[in-house]
Amino acid sequence: MTAIVDVTDVHKSYGKNEVLKGIDLQVQEGEVVVMIGPSGSGKSTFLRTLNHLEPADSGKIVINGWDISDKKTNIDKTRETIGMVFQHFNLFLHLTVLENMTLAPVQLGKLSQAEADEKGLALLDQVGLRDKADVKPTTLSGGQEQRVAIARALEMNPKIMLFDEPTSALDPEMVGDVLQVMKDLAKEGMTMVVVTHEMGFAKQVADRVVFFADGKIQEQGTPEAVFEHPQNPRTQDFLNKIL
Ligand code: ADP
Ligand code: MG
Repeated sequence: MTAIVDVTDVHKSYGKNEVLKGIDLQVQEGEVVVMIGPSGSGKSTFLRTLNHLEPADSGKIVINGWDISDKKTNIDKTRETIGMVFQHFNLFLHLTVLENMTLAPVQLGKLSQAEADEKGLALLDQVGLRDKADVKPTTLSGGQEQRVAIARALEMNPKIMLFDEPTSALDPEMVGDVLQVMKDLAKEGMTMVVVTHEMGFAKQVADRVVFFADGKIQEQGTPEAVFEHPQNPRTQDFLNKIL
């Protein structure tokens, strides 16, 4: 097995606030890792260090074989292999759904406009929104927007997908459709790191659950191990509060 994400002893502070206190994490190709933990524990910061949206202060981060902690590495090229989906959808509101999807691959010269359109329509089909190709994002529901955001990330053919609370901003009735798209993606073998409070998703889809608190990975294991037999009192306490 190849580790697609290989993180060693990553530290990150904002001023005096040490947010990441030495993170080690390996993610294998095709693995789905779900990160859970209290608010403010550094989950988003960690995800953002993985694609260098936040440079780590120290430690080593190798993604798809690219050492992004090495200043000589071409970060833009590395980022092309990493899809990221946030809580808020970040779609361009003045562009149509399909234009949102094709913009990056065409501008970067990865696909011709015709190829990008064809691929975009196929991906919209996959997320159940083919009929929305030509509308503006403002006419979509939150759940539809988020599915477009996922499809847009997939248009770049990423090797790994990072999700930061992708359903947290959605009305409850929208959550299921977005999770279904993510489940399908997992089933197809996509490597995924997902920060979420959706414990049902974690139980059903995760190969591994990582409990994050106070800037550290406190405990990790199969969903069964972490949810049914948590070893660390902090994990037990967190699960008691949310389950
Ligand atoms: P989580 O995603 O687990 O809720 P975050 O990674 O968002 O946690 O935040 C961890 C800590 O880092 C918090 O104390 C937060 O205030 C701080 N933080 C996050 N981003 C910044 C930033 N850009 N500047 C300063 N502090 C930040
Ligand atoms: Mg967060």
